[in-house]
Amino acid sequence: MHDGPGVRTTVFLKGCPLHCEWCHNPETQSPDPEILFYKNKCIGCGNCVNACPVGAHGADGFDRKRCVICASCAEACPTGALELCGADMTVGEILKTAERDRAFYGDAGGVTLSGGEPLAQKNAVALLEACRDVGLSTVVDTCGYADRETLLSAVPLTDLFLWDVKDTDEDRHEKYTGAPLEPMIESLNIANEAGARIRLRCILINGVNTDEEHYGRLANIARNIKNFDGIDLIPYHAYAGTKATFVGRNDSGRADWIPTAEQVARANRIIRGLL
Ligand code: SF4
Ligand code: SF4
Repeated sequence: MHDGPGVRTTVFLKGCPLHCEWCHNPETQSPDPEILFYKNKCIGCGNCVNACPVGAHGADGFDRKRCVICASCAEACPTGALELCGADMTVGEILKTAERDRAFYGDAGGVTLSGGEPLAQKNAVALLEACRDVGLSTVVDTCGYADRETLLSAVPLTDLFLWDVKDTDEDRHEKYTGAPLEPMIESLNIANEAGARIRLRCILINGVNTDEEHYGRLANIARNIKNFDGIDLIPYHAYAGTKATFVGRNDSGRADWIPTAEQVARANRIIRGLL
């Protein structure tokens, strides 16, 4: 309901070349399947210990380094505390899954490719093509970290890009995402020149990018988009940090990063006033 117009099936493609400190989908950063562990659901029954062929579960908890992702523990877990995240799927298999939801799409809905960074996988283009062939609307949620060839192939196959501009300050972008800003803006320009319909989606993080200079630069980017669909400011939420614990990392959530409702309203006011 939130990844493009109408009711959509969102396909989360695992793997991302960035590692944003506020990542809302940390389980999609690694390109490989992995086991999610929801500690609060564990009742200590020990089924996973017996099911694991390599002794990855034990008194000391879950040793991810031993895990070979066979998923036996997730199948044996009675509470859903363990879950397999990610699978190798063909374009045809994904399309078949999306087709099951077709009755819900109506005139506006369809398939959204998200992630991770969907355009980091070249096969994303084949999936977009397959959706087009069967008349499914296509949306791509991207930060633009893609090679030119993939991007230019994706543009004519994509009804709408949800373009994730994380920051407009070069130093901050590199510091918080691990990647330089310039290639992202270059990709945005390439897609724009190729006629892409683009909706900007920008995270708002208190104390990081809640300054007027950033709002001005965002408005400038928006004004230069020829086929502009709008801009959404997305307030940071600390649950992103909790999700990091599901893949075995520390809780990286920061309450001080959550913008107030007034900050979000002000940012919207300033940016929309400049469009
Ligand atoms: S996925 Fe397989 S190898 Fe990994 S912890 Fe579970 S049972 Fe063990
Ligand atoms: S099988 Fe599930 S509920 Fe039982 S100990 Fe393992 S993780 Fe906890």
